[in-house]
Amino acid sequence: AADKIDTIVSLSKRRGFVYPCSEIYGGQRAAWDYGPLGVELKENLKRHWWRYMVTSREDVVGIDSSVILASEVWQASGHVATFTDPLTECTSCHKRFRADHLEEAFEAKHGRLPESLAEVNCPNCGNKGLFTEPKQFSGLLSTHLGPTQDSASVAYLRPETAQGIFTNFAQVQQTSRRKPPFGIAQMGKSFRNEITPGNFIFRTREFEQMEMEFFVKPGEDEKWQEYWMEQRWNWYTGLGLREENMRWYEHPAEKLSHYSKRTADIEYRFSFGGSEWGELEGVANRTDYDLSAHAQASGKDLSYFDQEAGERWTPYVIEPAAGVGRAMLAFMLDAYAEDEAPNAKGKMEKRVVMRLDPRLSPVKVAVLPLSRNPELSPKAKGLASALRQNWNIDFDDAGAIGKRYRRQDEIGTPFCVTVDFDTLDDNAVTVRERDTMKQERVSLDQIEGYLAARLIG
Ligand code: ATP
Repeated sequence: AADKIDTIVSLSKRRGFVYPCSEIYGGQRAAWDYGPLGVELKENLKRHWWRYMVTSREDVVGIDSSVILASEVWQASGHVATFTDPLTECTSCHKRFRADHLEEAFEAKHGRLPESLAEVNCPNCGNKGLFTEPKQFSGLLSTHLGPTQDSASVAYLRPETAQGIFTNFAQVQQTSRRKPPFGIAQMGKSFRNEITPGNFIFRTREFEQMEMEFFVKPGEDEKWQEYWMEQRWNWYTGLGLREENMRWYEHPAEKLSHYSKRTADIEYRFSFGGSEWGELEGVANRTDYDLSAHAQASGKDLSYFDQEAGERWTPYVIEPAAGVGRAMLAFMLDAYAEDEAPNAKGKMEKRVVMRLDPRLSPVKVAVLPLSRNPELSPKAKGLASALRQNWNIDFDDAGAIGKRYRRQDEIGTPFCVTVDFDTLDDNAVTVRERDTMKQERVSLDQIEGYLAARLIG
């Protein structure tokens, strides 16, 4: 299955989903750019997350905070002191690793954690037990603001979008007139100085997150965590991710982040060489850690006065935190399939088809004139531009029709609409559905409604 990732990486590059960053200069290891199809898929994912988590609910609102926050935020949140990873180096091949990743890989293979790194083989050169003593390494990426580059001008690029939510908690709560239980959501770029970025867009130093902090009364936190775990699972399966490739992972108490009472991750079967499962999203109970820390450090009251109960408390927080790139990779891996389709001579041939939920598909409809022809082409172009008012449409008149179907199947386009010579007489077109390859004749004055009924959302 490791070659499935390679297949997705090469399809992504060939078709314009994801390219290596700065490739004209040889490419930057583990940074990626999203191409025309990738950006559509990514935006569709984000839009559906926002709709599901924010606009379809009365108890969640959104914000968009800065990437660079006051440095005090990261002091108070504990990130400056504790957002570190243990770094070790193989003294034989000089490759660096996160010690915790080496331990996890060992555990996945042997069913127990190693006594020490002396038991572990280097994943790069294979030599055993040649690791240096792990040193803590900050995961924060920093920069300097203004003309001087000293410790007073240091600023951090956010490693999570969550802190911008906590610092705005009181303002959002008051201006939106919401009472706990309620949530604040945010999507945007985050940055981490990862020691071992890799596995395509799974782990990069610059990435996008979709996070929501749900503020609840202390004592109701455990119930709400269960609720959000279920909601998040349903979001992925509702958009077509197969449950057989998903599972829950409970963080053992000794491995919880500094702020967490309980964290459960949704894992997906990414099947990277070396590790089968990888984290897709975490659902954490952050308690009142962050609001209390910011209240104490800023001197501002971040508690909530519960009028009904006549008491004041600091809300507990349940946080579902997802990564856009990881979700996109999971949906692509899950949707990728190979089956058979008839070629021009009716012989069955292998076809690649991306069975994406139509809501995620980068192109919704491809309009294909049967051949390049002075009568068919303008008719097809007219139809394409009319449909473009509602959806992302591809127009393709190059090559044999079968080849053009294949091109659309490979990128997950749910419908191909063919304009042929009969169209000039009967004013109807042939609609071909991606998964079943079934074809249906639909009259031109009904085509928009026909597609709208099948392209919900
Ligand atoms: P990991 O253990 O894989 O480093 P994490 O537990 O540190 O991840 P969280 O802090 O829970 O990750 O972040 C929430 C989500 O953000 C993750 O589930 C993942 O989808 C995404 N994410 C975190 N770090 C990265 C990264 N370096 N590249 C891409 N996505 C990331």
